[in-house]
Amino acid sequence: MKTTDLIVIGGGLAGFMAAAVAASRKQKVTVLTYGSGSLPLASGAIDIFNAKSPEIAIKNLPAHHPYKKIGSKNIDAAAKFLLDITAQANLPYVGKLSALLPIVTAVGTLKYSALVPESMDASKLVDKKKIFVASIKGLKDFYSPMIVDNLKKYFPNKSFEVAKLDLNLLGGRDITCMDAAQLLTDNEQPLANELKALNATADDAIIIPPIFGVMGNFSRSAVQMQIKAEIIETTCLPPSPPGIRLQRAFIKYLQNSGVRVFENTKVIRGVTDGQKVTGVVVENAVREKVFHARKVILASGGFYSGGITMRDFDNPIEPIFNLPVFFTTGAENWSNQQLFSDKPQGFSMTGIITNDNLNPVDKNGSVLFENLHVVGANLGGCDKIFERSAGGIAISSAYKAATI
Ligand SMILES: Cc1cc2nc3c(=O)[nH]c(=O)nc-3n(C[C@H](O)[C@H](O)[C@H](O)COP(=O)(O)OP(=O)(O)OC[C@H]3O[C@@H](n4cnc5c(N)ncnc54)[C@H](O)[C@@H]3O)c2cc1C
Repeated sequence: MKTTDLIVIGGGLAGFMAAAVAASRKQKVTVLTYGSGSLPLASGAIDIFNAKSPEIAIKNLPAHHPYKKIGSKNIDAAAKFLLDITAQANLPYVGKLSALLPIVTAVGTLKYSALVPESMDASKLVDKKKIFVASIKGLKDFYSPMIVDNLKKYFPNKSFEVAKLDLNLLGGRDITCMDAAQLLTDNEQPLANELKALNATADDAIIIPPIFGVMGNFSRSAVQMQIKAEIIETTCLPPSPPGIRLQRAFIKYLQNSGVRVFENTKVIRGVTDGQKVTGVVVENAVREKVFHARKVILASGGFYSGGITMRDFDNPIEPIFNLPVFFTTGAENWSNQQLFSDKPQGFSMTGIITNDNLNPVDKNGSVLFENLHVVGANLGGCDKIFERSAGGIAISSAYKAATI
């Protein structure tokens, strides 16, 4: 019977981060996952907390909040680890926990986030005199005039120009940002030529949709070195090239670190011995297979990715270990009438409650499995979308679980 140091269940942001951190510490790691997780849909920015200073806001959270269990030291260390490995992957990120950086959304509003791809850092707009907003012929869901209208509210004293780039991608048929990014990977010269034709100077910025390839920062570097103006990418509707770049950076890091990643592999139950998890069973096309490990990290993504399910109202289930799931009782407390309300949503608080070591606990606070740690969207007790803490909780809980 082969026993590895760590099994990570789930290959989303939290699972890949946990695997990467453990591998950097010379642990033998296996990732078991199916589905793509939410990274390919996400903006690529890592939201830590929606406050002027996430660092200070986190200190003032109540004791039951996942961040209080993770601890400031681990949040700092996780941010640093992410900045390090993205830099190594030539996908540089910028940002810190003491202040947020703006990025331009697909509709031209500014969204503030803690760790952002350098290619999206819109703080560089502040010093620019003129801003070009360039769309691509045939590109769906990117409306330069609307972006300009919205950006003017933030920058009333700058001049703006709308531009349309003709890259003749897919013979002029309708394309998405993902199509464009894929077609431009290792083939960025047509984009550079069109941008050069704008004659933008070093006093200008050019805002474009996120089409600088799907691998690291290579396409952006190749184009930016030919253009004097700063080029800044927006977010886009899913699928999102910046999210996919981050996912690929993680996969590359894991491959180079000897981590075994089994895709299309669904874990169906845990193998336990008293308070210990000794392994997990996966569903296989032919038969069930058991993987054994000294430690297991559960990063199966909460409601969004099937890490938690709920067939009957008031009865949420964690399907692998049958862990108790915290949820807001009473249908009337389950949701606010307004989806984008100014209060947390009851349903978003659903998740597993842990102790400070991120071990799952029962309703009396007793540890259920001492070598099982719960991370990411599976953690209950806060509305991560409302707080804008999903990415931060994912990377920092993963960091802590991998280093315990
Ligand atoms: C549309 C969208 C946009 C977002 N935008 C942002 C953003 O701008 N900023 C930000 O910080 N965060 C954002 N997020 C949140 C963020 O991307 C993640 O949801 C969050 O970080 C949680 O990651 P996770 O790894 O816990 O879960 P997930 O990313 O959901 O990954 C869980 C993984 O586990 C797998 N899994 C589930 N069950 C099993 C099983 N039984 N066996 C094996 N594998 C299993 C799933 O298939 C999936 O691959 C966004 C999320 C979405 C959906």
